[in-house]
Amino acid sequence: MYDVIILGGGPAGLSAAIYTGRAWLKTLILESAVVGGNAAIADQIDNYPGFPFGILGGELMENFRKQADRFGAEIRMEEVVHIDNSLEGKKVITTEGEYMARALIITTGARRRELDVQGEQEFLGRGVSYCATCDGAFFRGYPVAVVGGGESAVKEALYLADIASQVYLIHRRKEFRASPDSVDKMMKNKKIQPKLNSVIKRIEGDTVMRSLVLQDVKSDAEEALEVEGLFVSIGLVAAGGFIEGLVDTEGGYIITDDNMQTSVAGIFAAGDIRAKRTRQIATAVGDGAQAGMAVTEYLKE
Ligand code: NAP
Repeated sequence: MYDVIILGGGPAGLSAAIYTGRAWLKTLILESAVVGGNAAIADQIDNYPGFPFGILGGELMENFRKQADRFGAEIRMEEVVHIDNSLEGKKVITTEGEYMARALIITTGARRRELDVQGEQEFLGRGVSYCATCDGAFFRGYPVAVVGGGESAVKEALYLADIASQVYLIHRRKEFRASPDSVDKMMKNKKIQPKLNSVIKRIEGDTVMRSLVLQDVKSDAEEALEVEGLFVSIGLVAAGGFIEGLVDTEGGYIITDDNMQTSVAGIFAAGDIRAKRTRQIATAVGDGAQAGMAVTEYLKE
């Protein structure tokens, strides 16, 4: 029996574990993919306080992990498939086994939204990718495209500009959601060519992807774009199918109060999986710290 099981080992989960570990709670973190979550595969992070010249996502998350480890958190790489909220405690069923805890903190975050166009599934891993820092190196010297107009898409385009021969940034509007600082850097980069007011109609190829068919949203005119890779970066969707029916949600994201308490006693949520406006490492860390302290108080009571 653990005092607390934290589902998800990203910035929110690792921050919560630092707090529960320091409160001497027996803590288990369950992570299905990468310790550090999306932040661990981010390139340069320039807006996390304490690093005036920025820090690589992988390095920052490794520091988080070491700090959680220092305070005794156990980490297991297992995927959660179901939660049983019984009177004796909370039972967490994973692909590998079952664990019991007195309280849970759900920090499974969010994953990349799919584009849902013809060819996306067919060419997944053969041109189509959701992560430039993971797959960008395969496209050294080739033209690629990024789709999206948020911070992630602009950052991915800037990252790929150092690798690819040419980067097209395809966005369905003229205005960007990304920060003015990032947009300015992108506009000044000669290797990046924005394709604005454009959507992707389909992805074409043979054994691998070879081109995109774009459509101008104003004129409906179609254009073929020869690229070897497409990086889909069009926002996030909540990650954690097991939460359905367990706690109250809104658009797939978990509703909590200011204390990170969900609709079920003893189940807390923190970070990107929470229904909220801002999804940043800094806000995930704040959520995680709050959840860690709230769980400590809950278990004392
Ligand atoms: P986002 O801010 O939600 O932006 C998604 C973009 O994709 C929007 O420009 C949107 O277009 C476009 N889009 C959505 N659905 C589309 C579709 N079906 N077809 C074509 N385009 C589509 O998502 P994000 O960039 O992944 O960022 C998510 C969060 O992480 C944000 O809060 C962001 O600030 C944060 N983040 C922070 C950093 C950092 O370094 N601090 C880095 C990356 C991300 P519209 O604009 O027309 O809606």
